[in-house]
Amino acid sequence: PPTKLPKVGTTIFTEMSQLAAEHGAINLSQGFPDFDGPLALLDRVTYYLENGLNQYAPMAGVMALRNAIALKVEKLYGCTINPETEVTVTSGATEALFAAIGAVVCPGDEVIVFDPAYDSYEPAIELNGGTAVHLPLRAPDFAIDWSQVKQAINDKTRMIILNSPHNPTGSVLSSSDLDQLQALVNDSDILLLSDEVYEHICFNGPHQSLLRRPALAERAFVVSSFGKTYHTTGWKVGYCVAPVALTTEFRKLHQYLTFCTVHPIQLALADFINDYPEHYLELPGFYQQKRDLFCQLMKPGRFRFTPANGTYFQLMDYSDIQPEMDDLTFARWLTTEVGVAAIPVSVFYQSPPEQRLVRFCFAKSDDTLREAAEKLCRI
Ligand code: PMP
Ligand code: GLN
Repeated sequence: PPTKLPKVGTTIFTEMSQLAAEHGAINLSQGFPDFDGPLALLDRVTYYLENGLNQYAPMAGVMALRNAIALKVEKLYGCTINPETEVTVTSGATEALFAAIGAVVCPGDEVIVFDPAYDSYEPAIELNGGTAVHLPLRAPDFAIDWSQVKQAINDKTRMIILNSPHNPTGSVLSSSDLDQLQALVNDSDILLLSDEVYEHICFNGPHQSLLRRPALAERAFVVSSFGKTYHTTGWKVGYCVAPVALTTEFRKLHQYLTFCTVHPIQLALADFINDYPEHYLELPGFYQQKRDLFCQLMKPGRFRFTPANGTYFQLMDYSDIQPEMDDLTFARWLTTEVGVAAIPVSVFYQSPPEQRLVRFCFAKSDDTLREAAEKLCRI
């Protein structure tokens, strides 16, 4: 049969994690912690698993969890939302992104994405008959060039996809970015999809959620993931906050993509968030220590870098080490010959620029980071 996604193969995350496993390399490629979520959270899951909460959850999510999300959004971003009608719990942020795009993108629509872009956006746009319009983030700080966005907007522009803190670069949106975005979309029908899965891993100043701005929130799907916040990426539980009209359309897809999300884990998350509301407030400090340690350990080496402003990823420039090697070759070489796996950055671009960058995940134990840095500093 003809393929609907001719450009799609196996994701770079699968490829590099497999290569790392085959060669016994330290895996700093695919983004996931090598430590577990909080014990109190794991205990709550066990409790619900053992007490008969193993059937379908409500379609839009367990109410206690939606209440906890609404409370957090109000406390952190000053945004009052109705948990009944404006919050949907999903099977990971991946499902939420797919459902948001599918709910509103029609054949012929254009969707603006910023490169390097997380890999799941474009296939969802294409499957719905839309076209991704790729705009490069501006080196060296990977900021959005708003004048370029203004030029790219036309009658077909249906949506702009934002991602802050940004994977893979670690850049973050500033309050002035939100001003510029607001000025551009005011008086238009453009919708926003804001991928904020790293909202609690923001190092310099507070996270600039779109939910802070009523004029942006009124046209936005804001997506997050409990996998990143509670060190449980394998659970695949996320959520989408959007105004009633958008949530209504969003749920039409959600109910037929998955219908509902894993029940006992939603109940456990609700309990944990209520019992330990300060947990996510400690996350920036927790990951900043890891970022600082990794950067400190890498200083004697030949990689060049500027510490990430958010996420648990650190970009490193290897121009002084293997200037002739493209980044995919370098990442494979690093995995098989040096024993540390990384993600090449060019795979997240439509037209990769001339740069020599790989991404390392520092959501690892201090010992793992020490061992990896020791190998990386030897080359
Ligand atoms: N968006 C970004 C930017 C991510 O890094 C990830 C994590 N891989 C996701 C979405 C997907 O999150 P989840 O694992 O909850 O589906
Ligand atoms: N978001 C994770 C990363 O950026 C990978 C998720 C996946 O494997 N699809 O590394």
